[in-house]
Amino acid sequence: MILTELTISQAHQGLKKKEFSAVELCRAHFDNIKNQNKEIFAFLAVTEDYALDEAKKTDDLIAAAKDFSTLAGIPVAIKDIILVEGMKCTAASKILENYIAPYDATVVKKLKKQGAVILGKTNLDEFAMGSSTENSAFGPTHNPHDLSRVPGGTSGGSAAAVAANMAVYALGSDTGGSVRQPASFCGVVGLKPTYGAVSRYGLIAHASSFDQIGPLTKTVEDAKIVFEAIKGKDKMDSTSVESQFSINNSQFSIKDLRIGVPKEYFVKGIDLEVEKIVRSAIKKYEKAGAKIVEVSLPHAEYALPAYYIISASEASANLARYDGIKYGFSKQEKSLLDVYLKSRGEGFGPEVRRRIMLGTYALSSGYYEAYYKRAQKVRTKVIEDFNNAFKEVDMIFTPTSPVLPFKIGEKIDNPLAMYLVDVYTVSINLAGLPALSVPCGQVGKLPVGLQIIGQPFKENQIFEAAAFLEL
Ligand code: GLN
Repeated sequence: MILTELTISQAHQGLKKKEFSAVELCRAHFDNIKNQNKEIFAFLAVTEDYALDEAKKTDDLIAAAKDFSTLAGIPVAIKDIILVEGMKCTAASKILENYIAPYDATVVKKLKKQGAVILGKTNLDEFAMGSSTENSAFGPTHNPHDLSRVPGGTSGGSAAAVAANMAVYALGSDTGGSVRQPASFCGVVGLKPTYGAVSRYGLIAHASSFDQIGPLTKTVEDAKIVFEAIKGKDKMDSTSVESQFSINNSQFSIKDLRIGVPKEYFVKGIDLEVEKIVRSAIKKYEKAGAKIVEVSLPHAEYALPAYYIISASEASANLARYDGIKYGFSKQEKSLLDVYLKSRGEGFGPEVRRRIMLGTYALSSGYYEAYYKRAQKVRTKVIEDFNNAFKEVDMIFTPTSPVLPFKIGEKIDNPLAMYLVDVYTVSINLAGLPALSVPCGQVGKLPVGLQIIGQPFKENQIFEAAAFLEL
């Protein structure tokens, strides 16, 4: 048995049967990190002593024949934009290079309560802005399937850590695709929960009306386990809610499933190999008795520009707090204005500065109506499109990304080309829906993901449907 290849549920069973200890499981993952992190650069920081201490606690419970939860003793990696008390939280930005989190994010608190073993913090695009993890101030993460290629972004470090067996599972955050797209590029499972299903307290904000924390895992079953552990209403996040829906496993059948395939998603721009693999995955559902229905999302082509206007606007407001006074990096200058200007000018990388300028512009008087307000109207149209589609179908299937993992450096100088990688994921955040990327095939050694979009709070239905593909 190779300890680092185990899923959450396999590792849990192994601990229960005393086939290995939590400390051994933890050590095995650190061995992998030591061997591979130099090349892959999934982790920005590791916390070995802390992790081994935590693992020991689970071993003590087991030795005392006490109950322990499914996540107890299981190694997890946390995206470095989610606060873990006492650990650095950089958001992959120079401006927060030495910032130490003063408290735990709610999701971290929940995982710790279950006895999770936090291995360290993973790389990302600075402030979760990007699609390739190349925008990190500390250097890019490499795709474990092909080191010359990107792992996707912005949770590229988390996805690569799981794909390379350096962590059993990881947490990421998804504003416009940042859990799903790297999951697709690295061949793992990634869930963006319904907006509000998971607390955002302790997640450094990118665009607050889109951000959600989600799991990256080796299997659909694991994604479900982690989602169950982190979801729920939190008094520290007024947008969080208790989800109402659950379905009984025995009620679910592929035969009763009506799957929508949006015609607007299979047009020019999509890699033909990706299209072929996704279509053949959809065929498997059809063969199993699901009804495949072509649906239309007529405003799909406007989702991407609307997303970039709204998310940049929210980001420009959220990032105003990094002024060289309250947090982290500070440039000592004679005048206060220069402290602000120089700290922000040197502390933020080029993509973050671009978004702040774009967002400030879109929100400024005279342009607000023309850009921000219109983008919000488009957002409503996108929501209506999904509502209409869900009158006919239970779920919508699409590719997660129109392209295969691309070469490091290939798109970094062309922001528009980079933004287009998100064309299939951003509308889900505009509408606040849940969606999951599940591996559905490969082109050579490069993985392809199928995106399953569900109705609000029907994550369980998505899990059931996605698990079918793993059979
Ligand atoms: N690539 C998108 C962006 O740059 C999505 C980022 C994310 O989901 N955090 O905004």
